[in-house]
Amino acid sequence: MSLLSLQGVESGYGPMQILWGIDLDVAAGETVLLLGANSAGKTTLLRTIIGLLPCWRGGIRFDGERIDTLAPDQRIRRGIAFMSELGVFPTLSIDENIALGGYFLRDAEVRRRRERLFELFPDLAAKRRDAAGSLSGGQRKMLGIAKVLVSEPRLLLMDEPSSGLAPVFVKQVIEVLKTSIGSGTSLLIAEQNVAFLALADRGYLIDHGKVRLSGTRTELESSDAVREAYFGL
Ligand code: ATP
Repeated sequence: MSLLSLQGVESGYGPMQILWGIDLDVAAGETVLLLGANSAGKTTLLRTIIGLLPCWRGGIRFDGERIDTLAPDQRIRRGIAFMSELGVFPTLSIDENIALGGYFLRDAEVRRRRERLFELFPDLAAKRRDAAGSLSGGQRKMLGIAKVLVSEPRLLLMDEPSSGLAPVFVKQVIEVLKTSIGSGTSLLIAEQNVAFLALADRGYLIDHGKVRLSGTRTELESSDAVREAYFGL
Protein backbone atom coordinates (compact mmCIF):
# COMPACT_ATOMS: atom_id res chain seq x y z
CA MET A 1 0.00 0.00 0.00
CA SER A 2 1.17 3.54 -0.69
CA LEU A 3 2.33 5.69 2.19
CA LEU A 4 1.32 8.83 0.27
CA SER A 5 -1.35 8.74 -2.37
CA LEU A 6 -2.73 11.63 -4.41
CA GLN A 7 -5.79 11.26 -6.58
CA GLY A 8 -6.86 13.97 -8.99
CA VAL A 9 -5.33 16.78 -6.93
CA GLU A 10 -6.12 20.30 -8.09
CA SER A 11 -4.84 23.45 -6.46
CA GLY A 12 -3.60 26.95 -7.09
CA TYR A 13 -3.36 30.49 -5.81
CA GLY A 14 -6.54 32.57 -5.46
CA PRO A 15 -8.44 32.21 -8.73
CA MET A 16 -5.41 30.85 -10.57
CA GLN A 17 -5.40 27.08 -11.01
CA ILE A 18 -1.91 25.57 -11.18
CA LEU A 19 -2.36 21.82 -10.59
CA TRP A 20 -4.70 19.84 -12.84
CA GLY A 21 -5.64 16.36 -11.63
CA ILE A 22 -2.36 15.07 -10.20
CA ASP A 23 -2.18 11.33 -9.43
CA LEU A 24 0.94 10.35 -7.53
CA ASP A 25 2.08 7.65 -5.10
CA VAL A 26 5.01 7.18 -2.77
CA ALA A 27 5.47 3.77 -1.14
CA ALA A 28 7.05 3.25 2.29
CA GLY A 29 10.83 3.52 2.03
CA GLU A 30 10.69 4.75 -1.55
CA THR A 31 12.53 7.74 -3.05
CA VAL A 32 10.50 9.50 -5.71
CA LEU A 33 11.69 12.37 -7.89
CA LEU A 34 9.35 15.10 -9.04
CA LEU A 35 11.06 16.42 -12.11
CA GLY A 36 9.94 19.56 -13.90
CA ALA A 37 11.14 22.82 -15.36
CA ASN A 38 10.73 26.24 -13.78
CA SER A 39 7.08 26.99 -12.97
CA ALA A 40 5.92 23.44 -13.72
CA GLY A 41 4.11 23.38 -10.37
CA LYS A 42 6.49 21.34 -8.21
CA THR A 43 6.55 23.74 -5.23
CA THR A 44 2.79 24.18 -5.48
CA LEU A 45 2.34 20.41 -5.27
CA LEU A 46 4.59 20.04 -2.20
CA ARG A 47 2.78 22.93 -0.49
CA THR A 48 -0.55 21.29 -1.19
CA ILE A 49 0.66 17.98 0.28
CA ILE A 50 1.87 19.60 3.52
CA GLY A 51 -1.24 21.82 3.69
CA LEU A 52 0.16 25.29 3.09
CA LEU A 53 -2.19 25.47 0.11
CA PRO A 54 -5.72 24.05 0.00
CA CYS A 55 -6.52 21.00 -2.10
CA TRP A 56 -9.39 22.22 -4.30
CA ARG A 57 -10.43 18.88 -5.72
CA GLY A 58 -9.24 15.31 -5.43
CA GLY A 59 -7.82 13.69 -2.33
CA ILE A 60 -4.57 13.15 -0.43
CA ARG A 61 -4.08 10.08 1.72
CA PHE A 62 -1.24 9.39 4.12
CA ASP A 63 -0.99 5.88 5.51
CA GLY A 64 -4.55 5.28 4.31
CA GLU A 65 -6.02 8.32 6.08
CA ARG A 66 -7.48 11.33 4.25
CA ILE A 67 -5.28 14.29 5.26
CA ASP A 68 -6.21 16.97 2.74
CA THR A 69 -8.45 18.83 5.16
CA LEU A 70 -6.01 18.66 8.11
CA ALA A 71 -3.98 21.70 9.21
CA PRO A 72 -0.26 21.56 8.35
CA ASP A 73 0.79 20.87 11.97
CA GLN A 74 -1.53 17.87 12.06
CA ARG A 75 0.13 16.52 8.93
CA ILE A 76 3.58 17.11 10.48
CA ARG A 77 2.52 15.19 13.59
CA ARG A 78 1.57 12.24 11.40
CA GLY A 79 5.16 12.12 10.15
CA ILE A 80 5.42 14.39 7.11
CA ALA A 81 8.25 16.95 7.00
CA PHE A 82 8.82 19.73 4.48
CA MET A 83 12.22 21.12 3.60
CA SER A 84 11.68 24.34 1.69
CA GLU A 85 14.27 26.13 -0.42
CA LEU A 86 14.82 28.62 2.39
CA GLY A 87 15.51 25.95 4.96
CA VAL A 88 17.31 27.57 7.89
CA PHE A 89 17.17 30.65 10.10
CA PRO A 90 20.44 32.56 9.53
CA THR A 91 20.54 34.40 12.87
CA LEU A 92 20.05 31.25 14.97
CA SER A 93 22.91 28.91 15.76
CA ILE A 94 23.27 25.48 14.19
CA ASP A 95 22.27 23.88 17.50
CA GLU A 96 19.14 26.05 17.66
CA ASN A 97 18.16 25.42 14.06
CA ILE A 98 18.29 21.66 14.56
CA ALA A 99 16.33 21.95 17.82
CA LEU A 100 13.59 23.85 15.94
CA GLY A 101 13.20 20.91 13.59
CA GLY A 102 12.20 18.81 16.60
CA TYR A 103 10.10 21.45 18.35
CA PHE A 104 7.37 18.99 19.29
CA LEU A 105 9.80 16.50 20.92
CA ARG A 106 11.03 16.48 24.51
CA ASP A 107 14.33 18.41 24.95
CA ALA A 108 16.24 15.31 25.98
CA GLU A 109 15.06 13.50 22.86
CA VAL A 110 16.10 16.43 20.65
CA ARG A 111 19.57 16.43 22.24
CA ARG A 112 19.96 12.69 21.73
CA ARG A 113 18.95 12.83 18.08
CA ARG A 114 21.05 15.94 17.45
CA GLU A 115 24.22 14.22 18.70
CA ARG A 116 23.52 11.32 16.36
CA LEU A 117 23.04 13.70 13.42
CA PHE A 118 26.33 15.44 14.23
CA GLU A 119 28.07 12.14 13.59
CA LEU A 120 26.71 12.31 10.04
CA PHE A 121 27.48 16.00 9.64
CA PRO A 122 30.92 16.60 11.22
CA ASP A 123 31.30 20.01 9.52
CA LEU A 124 28.20 21.21 11.35
CA ALA A 125 29.26 19.70 14.66
CA ALA A 126 32.47 21.73 14.57
CA LYS A 127 30.47 24.96 14.24
CA ARG A 128 27.46 24.12 16.32
CA ARG A 129 27.39 27.39 18.29
CA ASP A 130 27.91 29.59 15.21
CA ALA A 131 25.09 31.41 13.45
CA ALA A 132 23.72 29.49 10.48
CA GLY A 133 24.25 32.63 8.39
CA SER A 134 28.01 32.13 8.65
CA LEU A 135 27.88 28.78 6.84
CA SER A 136 28.64 28.25 3.16
CA GLY A 137 25.75 27.51 0.78
CA GLY A 138 26.51 23.79 0.80
CA GLN A 139 26.78 23.64 4.60
CA ARG A 140 23.49 25.53 4.92
CA LYS A 141 21.81 22.90 2.77
CA MET A 142 23.28 20.19 5.03
CA LEU A 143 21.88 22.04 8.04
CA GLY A 144 18.49 22.21 6.32
CA ILE A 145 18.62 18.45 5.90
CA ALA A 146 19.72 17.86 9.53
CA LYS A 147 16.93 20.14 10.72
CA VAL A 148 14.22 18.09 9.03
CA LEU A 149 15.80 14.73 9.83
CA VAL A 150 15.72 15.42 13.58
CA SER A 151 11.96 14.84 13.51
CA GLU A 152 12.64 11.38 11.99
CA PRO A 153 9.85 11.86 9.44
CA ARG A 154 8.17 8.98 7.68
CA LEU A 155 7.90 11.12 4.57
CA LEU A 156 10.25 13.96 3.71
CA LEU A 157 9.20 16.49 1.08
CA MET A 158 12.20 18.36 -0.32
CA ASP A 159 11.91 21.43 -2.48
CA GLU A 160 14.90 21.81 -4.80
CA PRO A 161 17.74 20.74 -2.51
CA SER A 162 20.18 21.73 -5.28
CA SER A 163 19.00 25.33 -5.69
CA GLY A 164 21.72 27.93 -5.38
CA LEU A 165 24.45 25.31 -5.16
CA ALA A 166 27.53 24.82 -7.31
CA PRO A 167 27.65 21.38 -9.02
CA VAL A 168 30.27 20.10 -6.57
CA PHE A 169 27.92 20.80 -3.65
CA VAL A 170 24.99 19.22 -5.48
CA LYS A 171 26.99 16.00 -5.57
CA GLN A 172 27.70 16.35 -1.86
CA VAL A 173 24.03 16.88 -1.04
CA ILE A 174 23.14 13.75 -2.99
CA GLU A 175 25.81 11.76 -1.16
CA VAL A 176 24.61 12.98 2.22
CA LEU A 177 21.03 12.19 1.35
CA LYS A 178 22.02 8.68 0.33
CA THR A 179 23.77 7.98 3.62
CA SER A 180 21.55 9.89 6.03
CA ILE A 181 18.09 8.81 4.98
CA GLY A 182 17.19 5.74 6.96
CA SER A 183 15.17 3.02 5.29
CA GLY A 184 12.21 4.16 7.38
CA THR A 185 11.98 7.50 5.58
CA SER A 186 10.34 7.96 2.21
CA LEU A 187 11.42 10.88 0.07
CA LEU A 188 9.63 13.05 -2.45
CA ILE A 189 12.17 15.39 -4.04
CA ALA A 190 11.16 18.25 -6.35
CA GLU A 191 14.05 19.09 -8.67
CA GLN A 192 14.99 20.61 -11.99
CA ASN A 193 18.36 18.91 -11.70
CA VAL A 194 18.20 15.54 -13.38
CA ALA A 195 21.26 14.35 -11.39
CA PHE A 196 18.83 13.52 -8.59
CA LEU A 197 17.42 10.69 -10.70
CA ALA A 198 20.43 8.71 -9.46
CA LEU A 199 18.83 8.68 -6.00
CA ALA A 200 15.33 7.79 -7.08
CA ASP A 201 13.43 4.54 -7.35
CA ARG A 202 10.78 6.19 -9.49
CA GLY A 203 9.91 9.59 -10.82
CA TYR A 204 7.25 11.84 -12.27
CA LEU A 205 7.80 14.44 -14.94
CA ILE A 206 5.42 17.34 -14.46
CA ASP A 207 4.66 20.07 -16.91
CA HIS A 208 2.11 22.89 -16.65
CA GLY A 209 0.64 21.34 -13.51
CA LYS A 210 0.03 17.89 -15.02
CA VAL A 211 1.88 14.60 -14.84
CA ARG A 212 3.33 14.16 -18.29
CA LEU A 213 5.19 10.93 -17.61
CA SER A 214 5.93 8.58 -14.73
CA GLY A 215 8.06 5.50 -14.37
CA THR A 216 11.04 3.84 -12.78
CA ARG A 217 14.43 5.55 -12.82
CA THR A 218 15.54 3.46 -15.78
CA GLU A 219 12.36 4.18 -17.69
CA LEU A 220 12.76 7.91 -17.15
CA GLU A 221 16.45 7.89 -18.01
CA SER A 222 15.67 6.32 -21.35
CA SER A 223 12.53 8.32 -22.10
CA ASP A 224 12.70 10.70 -25.03
CA ALA A 225 10.81 13.42 -23.12
CA VAL A 226 13.35 13.42 -20.26
CA ARG A 227 16.34 13.09 -22.59
CA GLU A 228 15.15 16.03 -24.68
CA ALA A 229 14.29 18.25 -21.75
CA TYR A 230 17.18 17.46 -19.42
CA PHE A 231 20.04 15.87 -21.25
CA GLY A 232 19.78 18.06 -24.35
CA LEU A 233 19.58 14.99 -26.60
P1 ATP B 1 10.39 26.61 -9.55
O1 ATP B 1 11.48 25.68 -9.88
O2 ATP B 1 10.47 27.91 -10.29
O3 ATP B 1 10.11 26.77 -8.09
P2 ATP B 1 8.00 25.03 -9.64
O4 ATP B 1 7.83 23.86 -10.55
O5 ATP B 1 8.24 24.76 -8.21
O6 ATP B 1 9.11 25.94 -10.25
P3 ATP B 1 5.79 26.60 -8.76
O7 ATP B 1 6.59 27.44 -7.85
O8 ATP B 1 4.90 25.59 -8.19
O9 ATP B 1 6.72 25.91 -9.85
O10 ATP B 1 4.95 27.57 -9.69
C1 ATP B 1 3.89 27.15 -10.54
C2 ATP B 1 3.12 28.36 -11.03
O11 ATP B 1 2.51 28.98 -9.90
C3 ATP B 1 3.96 29.43 -11.69
O12 ATP B 1 3.27 29.88 -12.82
C4 ATP B 1 4.07 30.52 -10.64
O13 ATP B 1 4.14 31.78 -11.24
C5 ATP B 1 2.78 30.36 -9.87
N1 ATP B 1 2.93 30.80 -8.46
C6 ATP B 1 3.85 30.35 -7.58
N2 ATP B 1 3.70 30.94 -6.38
C7 ATP B 1 2.64 31.78 -6.49
C8 ATP B 1 1.97 32.67 -5.60
N3 ATP B 1 2.35 32.81 -4.33
N4 ATP B 1 0.92 33.38 -6.09
C9 ATP B 1 0.52 33.23 -7.37
N5 ATP B 1 1.11 32.41 -8.26
C10 ATP B 1 2.16 31.68 -7.84
